[in-house]
Amino acid sequence: MDFHTLKIGWQCLCPKCETSHIFKGKYSLDLKETCDKCGLDLAKNDSADGAAVLLIFLLGFSVVPLALVVDLIYPLPYIVHGIVWGILMIAITLGLIKPIKAYIIALQYKHRPNDWT
Ligand SMILES: [Zn+2]
Repeated sequence: MDFHTLKIGWQCLCPKCETSHIFKGKYSLDLKETCDKCGLDLAKNDSADGAAVLLIFLLGFSVVPLALVVDLIYPLPYIVHGIVWGILMIAITLGLIKPIKAYIIALQYKHRPNDWT
């Protein structure tokens, strides 16, 4: 695992200059057209739904088994499980969607450099 690329993604930075943020706003998932500092064309390599699909897999394979184990240990009404795990999954999704999207873009920049020229 490349921790430098992971760090760039976590901070939502441009993969080329590593100083400028790649999203249009604090709460926006839209990418800037180009990087403010180095002019890298970000719009050409938008990861689209990649981050959402990755989160679906990660949360599906981690939170659902966790909910089943918790239900075996502490049997609760289904409505409680729905509320607790639903809120947890929404919170994790909102917290990780931007860093994962930025990480995927950083990986694309690293492994497919010809697509950025
Ligand atoms: Zn840049």
